[in-house]
Amino acid sequence: MKRILAVVLVMILVALAAAPAMAEPPADGQDTIKLKVYIHYPKPGKPQPQPGVCDPTQYETNNYGLAGWKRSGTVIYRVNYSSIPSTVVNPQPAISNSFEVWEQYTGGKVDFVEGEPTTLTRYKLDGVNLVAWGRVSASGAIAVTYTWYNSSTGEAVEQDVIMNSKLPWKQTYASNPDATCGDLYAYDVQNILTHEVGHWVGLDDLYNSVDQDLTMYGYGDKGELKKVTLGLGDIAGMNVLY
Ligand SMILES: [Zn+2]
Repeated sequence: MKRILAVVLVMILVALAAAPAMAEPPADGQDTIKLKVYIHYPKPGKPQPQPGVCDPTQYETNNYGLAGWKRSGTVIYRVNYSSIPSTVVNPQPAISNSFEVWEQYTGGKVDFVEGEPTTLTRYKLDGVNLVAWGRVSASGAIAVTYTWYNSSTGEAVEQDVIMNSKLPWKQTYASNPDATCGDLYAYDVQNILTHEVGHWVGLDDLYNSVDQDLTMYGYGDKGELKKVTLGLGDIAGMNVLY
């Protein structure tokens, strides 16, 4: 009996010793790194696309929410171009525009830089801020943003966005900035990614219907392009953050 207990004890000790080696970097400050996941869904219970998705902006609220972190300095993001659905023609400008529209409201405090393309497809705390299309665990989600942030300093340390590759995607706005409506049977890359990058810079989702014309409105839609340009509330949030 004593021997069995000893063996069990040794196994527990070995498991405890192995555990830190399996944990994600960084080793220091590990206890203060937290993960927050934002899931961007289509509006529930409504047909997609919704009636009126292409109507001009009607609501101009000053509302915003704060996610609990900020970004600072140069932020290099990397895109998995090989993961992008073939229906998306010329995605690069749509992706860079999604970052620049926010950067201009950081007062020079954040510089988003596109790094080398990557073949990564999974969200992981691995030192790469990733933009990729792939499988998302949340069924029906349009996109998911993962933020690892330091809860002591309030700095986001890494962010990954996974766009749902099982949904239809197009790129309309970057090629046609006068368009008020995208393909009604597809999600526009820049429309959705601009919302996701709003989380990168530190903004929360808004779910009240008066906020439906803001970029940080929590639901997305096929054909929608209104998230591409920031609303008053989105800019108000940036002014508080930066
Ligand atoms: Zn969101």
